[in-house]
Amino acid sequence: MGHIRFRSAVSPLRRAAVLDAAAPAAQSVTVDRLVAERRPVDPVHCLRPAVFAEQARHFVRAFPGDVLYAVKCNPEPAVLRALYEGGIRHFDAASPGEIRLIRQLFSDAVIHYMHPVKSRTAIREAYFQYGVRDFVLDSAEELVKLFQETDNATDLGLIVRLALPKGSAVYDLSGKFGAAEAEAVGLLRAARLMAPRIGLSFHVGSQMLDPAAYEAALARAGAVLQQADVVIDMLDVGGGFPVSYPGVTPPPLADFMAAIERGVARLALPAHCRLWCEPGRALVAPGASLVVQVLLRRGDMLFVNDGVYGALSDAGAPGFRFPCRLIRPDGADDGAALKGFGLFGPTCDSADRMAGPFELPNDIGEGDWIEIGQLGAYGSALRTAFNGFDRAEVAEVADAPMLATPGYADWAMVA
Ligand SMILES: *Cc1c(COP(=O)(O)O)cnc(C)c1O
Repeated sequence: MGHIRFRSAVSPLRRAAVLDAAAPAAQSVTVDRLVAERRPVDPVHCLRPAVFAEQARHFVRAFPGDVLYAVKCNPEPAVLRALYEGGIRHFDAASPGEIRLIRQLFSDAVIHYMHPVKSRTAIREAYFQYGVRDFVLDSAEELVKLFQETDNATDLGLIVRLALPKGSAVYDLSGKFGAAEAEAVGLLRAARLMAPRIGLSFHVGSQMLDPAAYEAALARAGAVLQQADVVIDMLDVGGGFPVSYPGVTPPPLADFMAAIERGVARLALPAHCRLWCEPGRALVAPGASLVVQVLLRRGDMLFVNDGVYGALSDAGAPGFRFPCRLIRPDGADDGAALKGFGLFGPTCDSADRMAGPFELPNDIGEGDWIEIGQLGAYGSALRTAFNGFDRAEVAEVADAPMLATPGYADWAMVA
């Protein structure tokens, strides 16, 4: 009795085997070659370290402030290392597990604890063991808690998360976190009296396709700052920056940056105020794909070895479409016409179904492999062990992303 066992969830890729892509010529292994040589029977996450690093480099160059990578999007250490190589030094962490992971990998990284509701134990651990100084809050209760659990620290950075009205993002995040305007005003004033650095943050929602949403959110932030009449030290415009999916090409990244710069210019912030952002998806989505194998074809539906309880959660109920292609190492891609297929995942749950459509050759069948792209964000991170399908492999490959996103490296040149 009283025996509690812990299970690490932060790096959920259970390595049945780490496919040793480094063995022949590191970084020159392609997905095609890997499938031909290994004939994988478990799903394989194909990481493109060069793509993660290049996306990071582009974003860091484009954004006029500090870029905090939202760790929850993909906490795989190889991904984190590539982002670090691309210049990411700030991390948006939301749990003790993420904080430990980042500190373990990068002793010089700045970790920001951006979850507005934290356990007392987590606050103590973050502050005293991991050197975290910046904390987000959206309630007076959390403000009190932060001082109690840091023994009335005098070196905190406190960021008030402002609620936004329901917006036009594909993933609306307005329902759970954020203080209403009047409450945010009170929290900013209270924080100003207690902390040497304070800030304001918001999140417009994930896969936000409209640059004007950032401008509108900044105008709201401006109204709050005017009422609060306090000097802030950082302004955090959150995440939400979009990437391409089949049939969805977002405006270029530069349009988002221009909208943010216009919005910020209207606020008359003090010169020392740092601008922050917290991208997740935009940094990592193009950098990973997933190779699955077809177990059975039934009409227009393909049973494959990964699904919504694996890395394809967004292809389920949220209905995201992903780029895909057939891999048939024995050569016989007979140029069959493309046709839209739906996928069934491997579990017994009837919700383990992905409508797609996934455009694949009409003659696809058992034993063929499919590469599904743009899965570096919210893919492997959401994998579960449901129904015993807990195996996936990880490999590093040299391929370009399967889809280009405007405003990033022109991978067509690389491929
Ligand atoms: C999830 C999350 C992000 C990252 O969002 P993306 O849409 O992936 O860019 C950033 N900030 C916070 C607070 C989040 O919860």
